[in-house]
Amino acid sequence: MKKIFAANWKLQKTPTEATAFCDQLKKQIPSGFLDRHEVFIFPQNFSFATVVDQLKSTKVVVGPQHVHTEKSGAYTGENSAEIAKNMGAKAVLLGHSERRQYFNENSVALNKKIKLVQELGLIPVYCIGETLAEREANQTQIVCEKQLTEVIADIDKSKRIVIAYEPVWAIGTGKVATVEQVKEVHLQIYNKMKSLGFNQFEILYGGSVKPDNAKQLGEIPHVDGFLIGGASLEVDSFLKICNA
Ligand code: 13P
Repeated sequence: MKKIFAANWKLQKTPTEATAFCDQLKKQIPSGFLDRHEVFIFPQNFSFATVVDQLKSTKVVVGPQHVHTEKSGAYTGENSAEIAKNMGAKAVLLGHSERRQYFNENSVALNKKIKLVQELGLIPVYCIGETLAEREANQTQIVCEKQLTEVIADIDKSKRIVIAYEPVWAIGTGKVATVEQVKEVHLQIYNKMKSLGFNQFEILYGGSVKPDNAKQLGEIPHVDGFLIGGASLEVDSFLKICNA
């Protein structure tokens, strides 16, 4: 079955480092892999154009890690979805917990951003997930459903959307969610998406995905792929996850 392998490079990799990564990826990715599966890369902004250029001969999807609610205007420092599209973006990462936590990204803005991204024909990869305190308070399902309902209930159901479930406590901590936890939440997300009327969606798992846990996590029902941080920075570990 088709899987999605998405790399979130966060605030890492210079254009030179990104070029080296792309060179190695093109050499080492198994032939035909991109016909069977999808690879998304979300580089840091200054490396974005380089990655698009390096991978233009491949089917790898490249996109920014966030965009603004408006296409253009007086918004110093922001990212334009329209300009990203013009440069070759095919997807946009949205609602990552780091954006919610450090940059106050909220449901109202995310709803506008997803609509804009879809209107431009780009694929939103929308992140949701609970904090440790929320999990310990048995709020996981409530939090995830709220993040779905508030942000995507009224969007166009005929357009594709990718949901990335990333428990905040598993991001960059080496603490991966257990198979039981992932299974339970992915089923809940799947059911919620269906009840909201979505048919064209995939659900990724993210949070300390590594070569040694990818196979087990990838076999869980409704895990359609991964959103990978640390282990996506090296071609070796990224491809080990893809091949798992
Ligand atoms: P890690 O894979 O480093 O835990 O990061 C996950 C993540 O935040 C991807 O968006």
